Amino acid sequence: TQSRSYAVPAEDKVAQFKGTKGNDGKYTVTLIEGDGIGPEIAQSVKDIYSAANVPIKWESVDVTPHLKDGKTVIPDEAIDSVTRNYVALKGPLATPVGKGHVSLNLTLRRTFNLFANVRPCKSIAGYKTPYDDVDTVLIRENTEGEYSGIEHVVIDGVVQSIKLITREASERVLRFAFQYAEDVGRKKVRAVHKATIMKMSDGLFLSTARDVAKEFPNIEFDAELLDNTCLKMVTDPVPYNDKVLVMPNLYGDILSDMCAGLIGGLGLTPSGNIGDECSIFEAVHGSAPDIAGKQLANPTALLLSSIMMLQHMGLNDHANNIQQAIFKVLAEGKTITGDLGGKAKTYEYADAVIKSL
Ligand code: NAD
Repeated sequence: TQSRSYAVPAEDKVAQFKGTKGNDGKYTVTLIEGDGIGPEIAQSVKDIYSAANVPIKWESVDVTPHLKDGKTVIPDEAIDSVTRNYVALKGPLATPVGKGHVSLNLTLRRTFNLFANVRPCKSIAGYKTPYDDVDTVLIRENTEGEYSGIEHVVIDGVVQSIKLITREASERVLRFAFQYAEDVGRKKVRAVHKATIMKMSDGLFLSTARDVAKEFPNIEFDAELLDNTCLKMVTDPVPYNDKVLVMPNLYGDILSDMCAGLIGGLGLTPSGNIGDECSIFEAVHGSAPDIAGKQLANPTALLLSSIMMLQHMGLNDHANNIQQAIFKVLAEGKTITGDLGGKAKTYEYADAVIKSL
């Protein structure tokens, strides 16, 4: 029998995977506040969680990289904290521009082998967008593809970047996608690919998808070319509402930002990076240096990411409670932040959510 990784974790792993509960009944969760607007939006999460009596103790860690043996590394304290707690909430991390700097986001994903990036994309009632009934889920392979980091100069003026696709990583994310569909009650999984052009790499992803589909007879499976998906989604996203879309790394990166545009932008889109043991939940947006330190940031995306985290941990009542309060404040539209057309400061929005709990 094959190991089904996320789908069926070994019995003794299940409890750990969902977080560590102390004798006081509280879970310790690693909090990486991040850069730019990170500390402001993390404060909103902390305030709302304490008002909602969520049984979580935050363990804040600094991930400012430092040099070790000539290489940029994340402090051991941060790595140890995530390893110990299994679950983390992460604010945005700025990637320093220039030679020799690594993306901390990529480093975290690699360090903890967070192979599936889950990005739900759901319209928020009351916030007007071109479409007000979008409800799809994208799952992006998070460890390889064009992000494998294998690049070299062939000769002057010619560079090669390797797109790496393996059956192992494809199988892992595809099985996760089918299991996710089953768990959340979605009936269809669609693989998004370009196997017409990338016959071998996307071809392997697609044939693996067809094989994995056989393990899930209750879920319908089909496949679609990426360009076709883009065209159809911006024309009419509704047919995608009952589906889970699963795809290689770069396609997922781009398509999920396009989907964020369909529902109102980066201030509203959450995500989860899931591995076999650890998971890190984070907003899709970055550190927004242009508005940092001014209480202008919208904390909704980080809040909704934290709600995905609560659902992952099985704390569904707390997740529903906070989610309803957020949706109520957004639907009323009186206390919303500037990106959504309002005038509220970050903390004023958080206070309105607290009053709606
Ligand atoms: P960004 O997402 O930080 O900002 C893009 C635009 O969206 C800006 O105008 C910003 O003000 C706005 N915005 C973003 N989040 C918002 C929020 N919560 N509320 C209101 N407005 C918001 O993208 P960028 O400017 O390209 O990147 C800035 C830095 O963030 C870079 O260093 C980049 O590498 C990093 N980044 C990190 C992550 C991550 O940690 N996962 C993701 C993307 C970018």
